[in-house]
Amino acid sequence: YEKKDHEILSQKVQSQDGQKVYVSANIEFPEDIPVMLKSGADGIGLYRTEFLFLKSNRPPTEEEQYQLYRNAAVNAKPNPVIIRTLDLGADKVVAYLPWRWMEENPVLGARGIRISLKEKEMFKTQLRAILRAAVEGNVSVMFPMITDLSEVLATKEIIEQAKEELSTQGIPFGEPQCGIMIETPSSCLIAEHFAQIVDFFSIGSNDLIQYTLAVDRMNNNVEYLYQPFHPSVLLLIRMAADAAIKKNIPISICGEMSSDIYLLPFFLALGIDRLSMGSVFIQRTKRAVQFLDVSKIRGSLEPLWRAKTAQEVFEILKEITRSFL
Ligand code: PEP
Ligand code: MG
Repeated sequence: YEKKDHEILSQKVQSQDGQKVYVSANIEFPEDIPVMLKSGADGIGLYRTEFLFLKSNRPPTEEEQYQLYRNAAVNAKPNPVIIRTLDLGADKVVAYLPWRWMEENPVLGARGIRISLKEKEMFKTQLRAILRAAVEGNVSVMFPMITDLSEVLATKEIIEQAKEELSTQGIPFGEPQCGIMIETPSSCLIAEHFAQIVDFFSIGSNDLIQYTLAVDRMNNNVEYLYQPFHPSVLLLIRMAADAAIKKNIPISICGEMSSDIYLLPFFLALGIDRLSMGSVFIQRTKRAVQFLDVSKIRGSLEPLWRAKTAQEVFEILKEITRSFL
């Protein structure tokens, strides 16, 4: 076993009872791609595209975006790449989009899909680049900050327009799967409805914690209230997972909770079998997966649903994790 510890696990891993688990990387910058490849990741579960839009005083062109997305797709192949469309707003603002940038409460203001749907041409340009990159690999597209079904429907219309344009211009494009970030309480509470109109879910726990507990994730004054183990957060995650499983669509988690070893048994027991995280955590997670017996964990999750505090949740999860590792 000691020896094995130093080998890079680049193959897919499974639990003791044979449940396959996909452990992929979160990336943002082009330099993250070689790191992702060395980490043994099963592809890219979250490609944050803000960097492209923040680095200069104009939005990136379709061609610039296409080259970057294509590069990710080609490198990850045959593993999947999930490209998240622009999540500007809150702490990420650009000078070339002056509207609303003086918001008093930006975390609850125009961000993510809300900005994209107001900046339709910019959004369509990004979607065209993603559609084109989908020819070159296993590419999916995902939308941030979704709270309402209308946002998904409006986005789908823009995707259709982009496809029509590309067809007319004779430019080849693929058919990426379309998913949403589950990162607002609303998206969990009506996850069943979302599951009818999207191909997959990915839980953005960083924002889900922020919006569930009404705690600004950047505000040090309330940092002590930012609790990933809060029972309300776990209950919302369960709702999203149940909805995904009922409709038989994939559900992953790409917020920072995904790399917490104490939460790994919890996610697997709920059927969240795709985890996306910083490359440094991938090997550790793949190794831990191989120790777990998911069918046994399912039986031991019951006390969790009666826990009243984050502390109680943590104690229960610690017990479960210790029994395997
Ligand atoms: C999240 O909210 O958990 C997430 C993955 O997205 P970001 O951290 O980019 O908001
Ligand atoms: Mg988020």
